[in-house]
Amino acid sequence: MPTLVVTGASRGIGLEFARQYAADGWRVIAGVRHPDKAEALRAVSGVEVHRLDVADPASIEAFAAGLEGEVVDLLINNAGIMGPHPHQQNQVTLDVAGWEETLRVNALGPVLVTLALTPNLTRALKPVAATVTSQMGSIAENSGGGYYAYRMSKAAVNMGMKNLSLDLRDRNIAVVVLHPGWVQTDMGGEQAPVKPAESVAGLRRVLAGVGIGHSGRFYSYRGEELPW
Ligand code: NDP
Repeated sequence: MPTLVVTGASRGIGLEFARQYAADGWRVIAGVRHPDKAEALRAVSGVEVHRLDVADPASIEAFAAGLEGEVVDLLINNAGIMGPHPHQQNQVTLDVAGWEETLRVNALGPVLVTLALTPNLTRALKPVAATVTSQMGSIAENSGGGYYAYRMSKAAVNMGMKNLSLDLRDRNIAVVVLHPGWVQTDMGGEQAPVKPAESVAGLRRVLAGVGIGHSGRFYSYRGEELPW
């Protein structure tokens, strides 16, 4: 059975990825900041829970060292934070530390995790490294403004993944970025129209069709290709 590594799996979309792939018989390795607090994840049978803080390079290194020699067929960089944002759209927050944290988690983290697990992905037959970004990181689609830290972090991770799609092509690793829709999670809020189960089912359909020919592309959970 194939192996999935998913980050930020303690709740929300990441937890749903772990549930659905485990239910299909995949080996699921889930990275979370606080394994002791991830009760919902630990209740999913067959999931291996590892400590991983994607904002901390030492934690990423230790996580990868624990997987040395293992095959990883699919990596899903899912962990993310909204970061600081003022309520008035045209105002910029001066919470620079919060802004830097957002960039560390959302932009640097996925790139570092992908690089750390490249040897594992290289061992797979049809490896895919996917990152849950957001349409809010699309420069072409930005008509609303605001949310500087979040939008900039997602635009930055998009560029990082586009780069990796080129740099990892000779190792046959397909690199894609995914928009999950507006999803009912702690981040998305209760008014979000899409349930995690529907978003993840859609993203899994997209991922099942991804091969090296799709590397460097940006897809929504509905399978549409999105502009960068
Ligand atoms: P949640 O806030 O529900 O969950 C976020 C997850 O990320 C939690 O498991 C959290 O862990 C984890 N996380 C945060 N920081 C770190 C870190 N430093 N290291 C490891 N894990 C971390 O958000 P969603 O499930 O909604 O979001 C998942 C992804 O989807 C994010 O990348 C988000 O940007 C993206 N997205 C979500 C949308 C939505 O509408 N919900 C829309 C577009 C994109 P902990 O429990 O420890 O805090």
